[in-house]
Amino acid sequence: LSIAAETELRLPDPRAALDHLAGHLAGHGIEPEPLGPGAAGFSFEGARIEIVAGPDRLRLRVTARSENLLYFMKEGTAAHLAEIDPAGAEALTWSDGVVTGRPANLHLLRLRRREEPYPGMIRLVLDGADAAALGRDGLHVKLLLPPPGRRPAWPRAASNGITRWPEGEDALHVRYFTIRHVDPASGCVAVDVLRHPGGAVSDWAAAAVPGEEIGLMGPGGGLAPLRRAPLLLAGDETALPAIARILEMQAQDAHGDVVVALPDGVAPEAYLPPTRFRLHVLDAARFDATVVDAVRALRGRGFTQAWFAGEHATAQTMRAVFRGEFGLGKGAQFSASYWRRGVAGDARGEAD
Ligand SMILES: Cc1cc2nc3c(=O)[nH]c(=O)nc-3n(C[C@H](O)[C@H](O)[C@H](O)COP(=O)(O)OP(=O)(O)OC[C@H]3O[C@@H](n4cnc5c(N)ncnc54)[C@H](O)[C@@H]3O)c2cc1C
Repeated sequence: LSIAAETELRLPDPRAALDHLAGHLAGHGIEPEPLGPGAAGFSFEGARIEIVAGPDRLRLRVTARSENLLYFMKEGTAAHLAEIDPAGAEALTWSDGVVTGRPANLHLLRLRRREEPYPGMIRLVLDGADAAALGRDGLHVKLLLPPPGRRPAWPRAASNGITRWPEGEDALHVRYFTIRHVDPASGCVAVDVLRHPGGAVSDWAAAAVPGEEIGLMGPGGGLAPLRRAPLLLAGDETALPAIARILEMQAQDAHGDVVVALPDGVAPEAYLPPTRFRLHVLDAARFDATVVDAVRALRGRGFTQAWFAGEHATAQTMRAVFRGEFGLGKGAQFSASYWRRGVAGDARGEAD
């Protein structure tokens, strides 16, 4: 972890603040590593934070292996300190200087071309990126869509580490997507967008013409250590890009089952990479009604890890099934809400 930044916040009860932050991180499965009385470290994939509760202040040091992750860590830290002391967090400064202006993890890209891996799934091939930076640190990005017909105003980094989003008529439409593919040779990245009614990103993806500009922030998240076999991966069409990436990252001898949604008549090879995993394809039109039973039917396979992503209510049911029926605990099961029926999915704030 080669780059670092430090900050501090004066507080009446620094120990309570440390407990608050530790409780929040525990909710994400990140346990504290004790570093002495009133001090703890928390390790993330590629980044770390150490927090020391002194008599009158909290001192925080974040380290990361890339500018992207350092930005992500500083932003998350400032956002969570704002829950404890909004005014203090607003005035926070970092030891790496006042890094204002364009956020370190913002990439402005242009549409090079559109493809259609199968009918209903639109591939946006984007260039102008630091493609290598988008291929590490995580699977997911925030996709930033400017208001139609306006010159885009992009987010700016404030000196306390927080991202300031354009407001009013300049407000961006921001949603999470998965980097499906990175090609450092051509400098292109691919993002696959499922067509669905009433979605601004989905509508834009269906009609965008080469040369149109779009923003990506990140990547971050999604690199859960899915290395134990047998492994279960399941998800709807919005999760297909992540499932494809996770399969590509598996070791040669990895094995398990994959439950995916595809429109009637589309073969999994049309989208997924070649794999030793057993594939189970459900009709996308009935996925939420059928996936829980389809997963339950695989219970006897003795999975040591299970992963699901899809609609919010299904993700919640799946989490309960993984925990209660499959007996999988923290670190062995992940169930993510990728979208919520009837609710637009603003991603401007922190994921958590
Ligand atoms: C970490 C993460 C990674 C993701 N990766 C991808 C990805 O690679 N590809 C992808 O296509 N999606 C992905 N998603 C899901 C995507 O962010 C949502 O589907 C998002 O709502 C799409 O934005 P929108 O502007 O099209 O629609 P919004 O403005 O957010 O929503 C408008 C309406 O559409 C509905 N809606 C949203 N998604 C769907 C859907 N899938 N089917 C039916 N109705 C829907 C909403 O409920 C709402 O009523 C991911 C989500 C997360 C959290």
